[in-house]
Amino acid sequence: MSESIGNTGSGMKLHTRILLGLLIGAVVGIAANQALGGDHALVAWVNKYLAGPVGQIFLRMLFMIVIPLVFASITLGVAGLGDLKKAGRVGGKAVTYFFLSTALAATLGLVIVAAARPGERLDPTIREELLQQYAGDASSRVQAAATSTFGIGTLVNIVTRNPVKSAVDLDLLGIIFFALMFGAALTQIPAERAKPMIGFLEALNDVVIRIVGFAMRLAPYGVAGLIFGVTSAFGFHLLKPLAAYVLVVIGALLIHALVSLSVIQRVLIGIDPRLFFNRIRNALVTAFSTSSSSGTLPTALATAEQNLGIPPQIAGFVLPLGSTMCMNGTALFEGITVIFLCQVFGVDLSMGQMVVVMLMSVITAIGAAGVPGGSIPLLVGILTMFGVPGEGIAIVLGVDRILDMSRTTVNVWGDLTATAFVAKSEGVWDASMVPAMEERAA
Ligand code: ASP
Repeated sequence: MSESIGNTGSGMKLHTRILLGLLIGAVVGIAANQALGGDHALVAWVNKYLAGPVGQIFLRMLFMIVIPLVFASITLGVAGLGDLKKAGRVGGKAVTYFFLSTALAATLGLVIVAAARPGERLDPTIREELLQQYAGDASSRVQAAATSTFGIGTLVNIVTRNPVKSAVDLDLLGIIFFALMFGAALTQIPAERAKPMIGFLEALNDVVIRIVGFAMRLAPYGVAGLIFGVTSAFGFHLLKPLAAYVLVVIGALLIHALVSLSVIQRVLIGIDPRLFFNRIRNALVTAFSTSSSSGTLPTALATAEQNLGIPPQIAGFVLPLGSTMCMNGTALFEGITVIFLCQVFGVDLSMGQMVVVMLMSVITAIGAAGVPGGSIPLLVGILTMFGVPGEGIAIVLGVDRILDMSRTTVNVWGDLTATAFVAKSEGVWDASMVPAMEERAA
């Protein structure tokens, strides 16, 4: 594919237009919230008839292709690796990287929150107010937590009983498993029999990537609409009492992205982190505005293949796995939130318990779905383990959207780093294969 998703062929570069959409949507949304208030009739009208629909259409365009994309790219990835031994090795390497980088992120979060102690700064009367205000929302999340505990059932359920139902439910792990089996089986039948199926899947893959291109043309408007929806409704008064907590989460996310991931990119992958960031900007803005790793997967895949030049059989194999399993930002956020709420409720944790928090954050981040708020039910599960009332999540729900946007961005940043790491360590890609884009930009 010669065309890059960074260029639309006319006028301003696409990523500049998307960033502009983000900025305009945010500024207009904040202004509307401040001048009129989140529930003013005009703001509600704009959200209902303009910003909301445009944002939703963009989001739906992306979700529309997630299932065929995951199926085609994983199957082709496994089949393209040639033999099962190789697929097993690449998969093993990817999963090890996911686990270690996520553990690094969670540990970083824990160290920072233990040092900054934002929970001790929360006024008890504000705690009560927040608990009351979000009690209803929290109780439904607590109920969701009861049905989404991470256990042996989670593992068994990965082996889908019905791939069509998995597709309907957007159960990505089920689809991934089915695609892994499908790809593995394709390598075992005679080549001339496998060929038409591979040709079909390659065409399917190209078609959905082309649809990503259509969706990305909408992205500047979609992103503006989604961000307007969040900022116009966002209660900025909530930020004040929780400012210390929000700053700790965002600060730690930034440190992970700009320091930890940059070191990995420079030292282990041998690529300039600024170049890497430049190439993946579209995927990051999509993650920020959709708060969904799964929704960002189509853009991330196109970005990896076209803007970074990573071979499709690696990108198509590692990225779909990463989008549901590798959540650096989520684990970091969960670690901080558990400790923050322990501080608020006066629960003292020993060193050993901190390690358990770290491990639970990693495991639940791996188990969380890549959708907005996907980690919240699992987070409630960890809270109750440490004697914090599950409803305590109510304290942070009011600011969760902004944190969700931020952690999803770091999740996707981490997924793309993981993909580059695996491609580099397999010896099939390096920084010199990143296509030059600036000079081709229209
Ligand atoms: N929204 C996150 C994602 O899709 C998951 C979460 O942390 O809630 O990556």
